[in-house]
Amino acid sequence: MRKVVFFDRDGVINDNANYYVYRWDDFYINRGVIEGMRLLKNNGYDFVIISNQSGISKHIYSINDVELLHRLLDQLFKSQGLTVLEYYYCTHHPDETNCLCRKPMPLLFEKAIARFKIDPYQSWMIGDQPRDIEAAEQCRIRGILIPSNADIVTHAVNRILYDKA
Ligand SMILES: [Mg+2]
Ligand SMILES: [Zn+2]
Repeated sequence: MRKVVFFDRDGVINDNANYYVYRWDDFYINRGVIEGMRLLKNNGYDFVIISNQSGISKHIYSINDVELLHRLLDQLFKSQGLTVLEYYYCTHHPDETNCLCRKPMPLLFEKAIARFKIDPYQSWMIGDQPRDIEAAEQCRIRGILIPSNADIVTHAVNRILYDKA
């Protein structure tokens, strides 16, 4: 079974100082992300990104915008030798519908676990909101809550790599 580090996107992978990021030109990768992912990859972890994108429901941006952004992000990761298994996102807003995919609901984690045969007990979630951690822990994935836009190497990766549980 695979071991995976799940990432929230906005505030973990990229700077979320601008609240609804959907243009590549406004997308700034946070310090430590590439280095942290390399360290994790070298220790046998794969990657999945799980993100709430209620801006779609609010018509601030479209599914096509998100898909394009993720394609460009994926190219950047690939150019660094990094592979993300899948980019999952919820398109809903709670004002519109009570879906099962918006964190803290765990559906997108469950999908990833089933599709990629992930061992939750060997996996981790790095998020900057309590709902990220709550969603992961419902699937028995351990969560690490970091400050928004913090360096993941010092705030999360070192803990994962030196965990001997
Ligand atoms: Mg976030
Ligand atoms: Zn949803």
